[in-house]
Amino acid sequence: MTEGARVATPPGDRPREAATHCPYCALQCGMVLRETGRRIEVTPRQFPTNRGGLCQKGWTAAELLDHPDRLTTPLLRDRPGGELRPASWDEALDRVAAGLRAVQDRHGPDAVAVFGGGGLTNEKAYALGKFARVALGTRHIDYNGRWCMSSAAAAGLRAFGVDRGLPFPLTDLGRADTLLLVGANPAETMPPLLRHLTDQRERGGRLIVVDPRLTATARHASRHLQPLPGTDLAVANALLHIALTEGWLDRAYVAERTTGFDEVRRTVAGYWPAEVERLSGVPVADLEATARALATVDRAIILTARGAEQHAKGVDTVTAFINLALALGLPGRPGSGYGCLTGQGNGQGGREHGQKADQLPGYRRIDDPAARAHVAGVWGVAPDDLPGPGVPAYALLDSLGTATGPRALLVFGSNPVVSAPRAARVESRLRDLDLLVVADFLLSETAALADVVLPVAQWAEEDGTMTNLEGRVLRRRALREPPPEVRTDLQVLAALAARLKGGAPCYRISHKKGPLLTPEEAFPTDPRAVFEELRKASAGGPADYAGVTWERIDADTGVFWPCPDPDGPDTPRLFADRFPTPDGRARFHAVRHRPAAEPVCAEYPLHFTTGRVLAQYQSGAQTRRVAALRRSAPGGFVELHPDLADQLGVADGDEVRVVSRRGELRAPARLTPAIRPDTVFAPFHWPGAARANSVTNDAVDPVSGMPEFKICAVRVEKA
Ligand code: SF4
Repeated sequence: MTEGARVATPPGDRPREAATHCPYCALQCGMVLRETGRRIEVTPRQFPTNRGGLCQKGWTAAELLDHPDRLTTPLLRDRPGGELRPASWDEALDRVAAGLRAVQDRHGPDAVAVFGGGGLTNEKAYALGKFARVALGTRHIDYNGRWCMSSAAAAGLRAFGVDRGLPFPLTDLGRADTLLLVGANPAETMPPLLRHLTDQRERGGRLIVVDPRLTATARHASRHLQPLPGTDLAVANALLHIALTEGWLDRAYVAERTTGFDEVRRTVAGYWPAEVERLSGVPVADLEATARALATVDRAIILTARGAEQHAKGVDTVTAFINLALALGLPGRPGSGYGCLTGQGNGQGGREHGQKADQLPGYRRIDDPAARAHVAGVWGVAPDDLPGPGVPAYALLDSLGTATGPRALLVFGSNPVVSAPRAARVESRLRDLDLLVVADFLLSETAALADVVLPVAQWAEEDGTMTNLEGRVLRRRALREPPPEVRTDLQVLAALAARLKGGAPCYRISHKKGPLLTPEEAFPTDPRAVFEELRKASAGGPADYAGVTWERIDADTGVFWPCPDPDGPDTPRLFADRFPTPDGRARFHAVRHRPAAEPVCAEYPLHFTTGRVLAQYQSGAQTRRVAALRRSAPGGFVELHPDLADQLGVADGDEVRVVSRRGELRAPARLTPAIRPDTVFAPFHWPGAARANSVTNDAVDPVSGMPEFKICAVRVEKA
């Protein structure tokens, strides 16, 4: 079934159907929704990424459409500490507009901030960025994708000149002779991806997994490297050291297609395998076997994910693996290369079209005068009227309600009270705001703190596009209308823009000439109209969607960007002949290991790391409400090695406290030899006492702004 196999709204009793994609992760599995009466059935459909498979989350996704917790009317809080009460849309929107105006009148345009999400469609991400810069005139917009992919994005940009998670189709994984997965656990996060790994194994390929835990994915592997959290960079440099020593470098590729290798050669010369074994705990024999497995085959792929990225040195860690891939001549060769497994549903598209503090649509830099002029022209404003870059997500949240930070915040598609690092501090910042507005379809933990909650449509109730982990633009299709008192995010933005501008015509199609547009015209509510504008705004940028049309997506299995010409080809594979850098070459960067931001000590002697479980997704605001998923994964837990548990006097199932300098979590202990004895693990999907992010460190990578979720120092006590 192609993308074109679409919604039918037939007469009579026949069911309605929509060929769409799962609302959750970046695999964006193809599915068909079928509505008969009030019953909605989900069935998988053949699509290149999921090949007819769905995980438990996808199978149960429709349960939230008619869930009793669904928000169906706006909610208002009349006074701080008071209860939320139902309100009309007019009352709620008037309150928001008046509150935003009052804050900006008193403190200036940057006193209002916007926080978006990696699950928003391309159209919403684009409209949100435009709304922040044009309707509010604030530089403060960022999104939760900063938690997920920003380090790989920054590393990809500086090495390759472009950030596309996978620069090749996912089906290439099945062709690789060796596949190295670093800090990725797709067996739990995106299970249908394992079909590609099975292909690879059946063709005789090797899978090597680098992870501090013996995860479900590592159990499938032919080799598992189990480094101390925070030492992946040293492992990568040791692998390159071995490849150099053994003469496995692809000299012609390095000479013809790259720059900067000499400095990297000098740097990795100091990464003796025996020393890296002492640092990371990975035996020299495993390092040597891994280097050999990558360097002595025809096709090899290196993939990184959150385990490598969510560190205060995440950009450098990913860079070390890119250096290894470049030295072996992998990027741009069929069945070979480097890629990042993007996490959130639209993590890729969400960072391409203007939600990020430093970016304009098309992956343009907001501090680039030519980019500003182009986008300002599309938006009908003068380039100088566009604000400059804002600050990354954690810095933004941490400044809320302070003397110099924003006093009002609009949140769309995000739940930072559970998902942000050092979450108790973020929660207290949110409480300090003059105005917190949350648009969501459930009362998330963040929405529960809001002054105004705006109920918005769900994925099966609106059309749009998503860009999956391969850079493939897909169609999301509506099955049915939202409930009567529910609006789409685009409608909310249009209504707010109208109120903020008094409804008067105020934008031009071009800032130099042309008729004035009303706010409603400047902020269309039809997603297709927004996409048409996005195509123009992205034209000529690194993520060029100018040639992508909904019809073209429908006619095939999506369209890979860049695609500048409606009549020209799209780009499933990047880097075949050149890299999109000024000289066409990829760029090595020498990187060095450094310790975690918070080393262990006598008081906090253990490493703490976080991750996900199969049956829950991100902050869990949605999946915790699905009965089957709640049964599979009812609550948080703390994974401990039995030897550590012995020392602590903890038995399986005992309630334990995990305490860091920032806070604590309480949850039952789960004893398993799958984790290192010096490390404890907790999933981050639950709020309250089991909130893992009460403990995590808010140190961030200096380049990407990504927080160090994956390692901090803790002690564990029996509760
Ligand atoms: S959560 Fe991810 S892997 Fe699971 S069905 Fe949805 S898109 Fe597929």
